[in-house]
Amino acid sequence: MTQGVVDQAAAQKAASTTTQYVYFFGGGKADGNGRMKDVLGGKGAGLAEMTNAGLPVPPGFTIQTEACREYMRGKLSPAINAEMHAALERLEKLQGQKLGLGDNPLLVSVRSGAKFSMPGMMDTILNLGLNDKAVETLAKLTGNPRFAYDSYRRLIQMFGDVVLDVPKKKFEHIFDGIKAKEKVKFDYELSPVALQKIIAEYKKLVKQETGKDFPQAPLDQLVQARDAVFRSWQNERAKTYRRINHIDDWLGTAVNVQAMVYGNLGENSGTGVGFTRNPATGEHAFFGEYLMNAQGEDVVSGVRTPLPISELERAMPIVYEQLRTITGKLEKHYRDMQDFEFTIQDGKLYMLQTRNGKRTGLAAVRVAIDMVREGLITQEEAIFRVEPNQLYDFLVPRLVEKGEKIEVLATGLPASPGAAVGQIVFTAEDAVKAHAAGTFKTIILVRGETTPEDIAGMEVAAGILTSRGGMTSHAAVVTRGMGKCCVAGAGDLKVDEAKRELRVKGKVFKHGDWISLDGTTGRVINGRLKTLDAQPDDPDLVKFMSWVDPVRRLKIRANADIPRDAKNARLFGAEGIGLCRTEHMFFAEDRIEHMRTMILAQDEKTRRAALKKLLPMQRADFAGLFKSMESLPVTIRLLDPPLHEFLPKREDLLVEIQHLQDTKPRSPKLKELRPLLARVEELHEQNPMLGLRGCRLGIAFPEITEMQVRAIIEAAVQVKSKGGDPHVEIMVPLVGSIEEMRNQATIIRRVAEQIFEEKGVKVDYMVGTMIELPRAALTADQIAEEAEFFSFGTNDLTQTTYGISRDDINNFLPAYLKYGIFKHDPFATLDQAGVGQLVKMATAKGRNTRANLKVGICGEHGGDPESVKFCHKIGLNYVSCSPFRLLTARLAAAQAALEEKNSGAVHTTS
Ligand code: PEP
Ligand code: MG
Repeated sequence: MTQGVVDQAAAQKAASTTTQYVYFFGGGKADGNGRMKDVLGGKGAGLAEMTNAGLPVPPGFTIQTEACREYMRGKLSPAINAEMHAALERLEKLQGQKLGLGDNPLLVSVRSGAKFSMPGMMDTILNLGLNDKAVETLAKLTGNPRFAYDSYRRLIQMFGDVVLDVPKKKFEHIFDGIKAKEKVKFDYELSPVALQKIIAEYKKLVKQETGKDFPQAPLDQLVQARDAVFRSWQNERAKTYRRINHIDDWLGTAVNVQAMVYGNLGENSGTGVGFTRNPATGEHAFFGEYLMNAQGEDVVSGVRTPLPISELERAMPIVYEQLRTITGKLEKHYRDMQDFEFTIQDGKLYMLQTRNGKRTGLAAVRVAIDMVREGLITQEEAIFRVEPNQLYDFLVPRLVEKGEKIEVLATGLPASPGAAVGQIVFTAEDAVKAHAAGTFKTIILVRGETTPEDIAGMEVAAGILTSRGGMTSHAAVVTRGMGKCCVAGAGDLKVDEAKRELRVKGKVFKHGDWISLDGTTGRVINGRLKTLDAQPDDPDLVKFMSWVDPVRRLKIRANADIPRDAKNARLFGAEGIGLCRTEHMFFAEDRIEHMRTMILAQDEKTRRAALKKLLPMQRADFAGLFKSMESLPVTIRLLDPPLHEFLPKREDLLVEIQHLQDTKPRSPKLKELRPLLARVEELHEQNPMLGLRGCRLGIAFPEITEMQVRAIIEAAVQVKSKGGDPHVEIMVPLVGSIEEMRNQATIIRRVAEQIFEEKGVKVDYMVGTMIELPRAALTADQIAEEAEFFSFGTNDLTQTTYGISRDDINNFLPAYLKYGIFKHDPFATLDQAGVGQLVKMATAKGRNTRANLKVGICGEHGGDPESVKFCHKIGLNYVSCSPFRLLTARLAAAQAALEEKNSGAVHTTS
């Protein structure tokens, strides 16, 4: 299910009658509570809950998500402004201050906060309320002009960027220019006078860019900032993030307005973020980072590399103890690992946020197991604490170092585990381009630091490397979520994004050069190492899966073509092979030649002779599969792709022939190539995907089906004779009618019986079909008369139902996603409303004819959690997916079974 789908009509109706738009928190009491994430967003709900628990939370108010939805609809209720003003007055009274006014001006932060956390994707404004006058008052009041001017320049910069659309780079240019002039390394070394210069320049820039002065009226600032946060829900990076994480676009964000506390008030102040457990490994250890004399954005943006939280224990033992006690309580209260933000203002601790922390798959499993052991959660809850896709982390590759000369260029933070070996690019744009053009095999995105704008580039990269930033920097948080390798804050690297150059250890690396990253140790290694697939024998994983497997009803099989894949499949828990694409066996060097002879043959005799050469090879392959799967079922599909796929490309042949004619007109090769070209031209089809393929091949050339069935059955007989127990399922591809199915089933059964007679040994086997054409789904009741099992080929079924070529969708998919025509790539996540209905209907029709019909799917969707859950719901017997997605499918199936049990739904098989 898409996360948090809201029934729009119901939400609107509820909102229009009784909506409370603004929820106050402060003075030990909050209007809301921690369960109200839908309304208050994660951050707002957390703030309310912490306030109610009596924790030190600066007071404020949350404008609820319905207001954002109204903003998106272009109809903001007047009640919102009225409630906001009332809440502001209440806040001013509580604080004894006025927003931006008087001799002790109130300043606030304005932050986004959606139901599901979207780190760094939306906007935040700090120090709101400051203006030319208030900044002077603040300077006098605190006796700290540096702090006051620093806060004001931050406000203009954030407000300018977020609200007024002044490019951030222009502010940074001014800032870096003055820093260079003043010859200071760190921001906090800037003098009050230098900061005043920056403010003056910033204001000039705002005027230049917008034609207006930076707004001085605090209330204007507040309204504009609130609306900008609403708008930020719709920015491109937030949309991309939602798409990747399947978060519904309609949810909207809440806006949190909160009295400022200052981490940049001096050396006795600071700010930090942390986790109650290690988010990379799951280890039960307090984990976090902080910076003294800084504001929150400095820690997460990765501009300065923060200190580990253990340093705080030394520097401020009382605050540290208090923080540990509070966060420990929060973890017990929420019964999950917490990700928190705090600020220390003049030695006093304030909590700014708590939420369930994002974590790697390794950490998710470990935390879940530990929490069951600690009695915090039940085993059943533990199953939901891991996202099915996260289990992929256990299968992430590692670098192969044995026997290699390793040159470590730098060591950064092990921000997200795994390994990545690839070619360097320096901008997200370059990454996207290189990916689209297919110029680089694998991409490593190298940045000084990543920003939320880099999200599209990060998605296509295999790994991310940054020279600045900590374990909670943007790069670290986002890559952990994506399950991608990341090394962050490798300070020895000099990254020049403009020159597209990386300098380290006297070496220069350019766009396209190869490096290797180890996200588990933080090492950056020169050159192109090999990688090794992870072993899924981690004891935590084994234990977790031992809780998962007994719960699920769906069987999980693997798509595997060769014995090596079958071994992996068993290692990762496959309960059979759901699809062996036999054509993959023909592409091997020793076979393609016979395959080509077979295709080029002008008569049946020559074709049969070529097939005879292929027979022993196929038989050996199948015997290997049956042996490795022991008594588990193995579904073998007869030849499917169009024949021209086995021949050289027409264009290549034309070029080669022309070249030979020009250079060696008497070459004997020409004699070979010309008939080849003629046959290639004969086989040329306008729409090969709708042409001579699938069962049409076996019908046009029955000898192909005969050879393949002989290879399958003889292999099974051979394995059985040696004490094995093969379970054979022979599958006919691309069937659209009962007549096609009957034609092929007759051949299959005839050949099988013939072999049993020849060998004097019988094996059990089943004959079934792929359902991958709408007509097959529509006539599934008829097809089931012949077919003993169905396997939905949802790749082709999606292609033929939508009429979208599976190979060409990328030409328009980005536009479809952008305009919301598709929520997801339909070839990755099953279109439940359309293709899914065909699957459901065909299953029911098939079982009407044959009650015990075995039904599964073997398209790519078999490894996609949402699609697996759908398959469970409609009562399929199994899903089949690539070996590396088996853990994911096993967990998704278990979650589906538990969801069904907990909802009280009754399982039906039709
Ligand atoms: C399918 O179409 O879903 C399928 C599994 O077959 P292939 O991808 O080989 O066409
Ligand atoms: Mg297919």
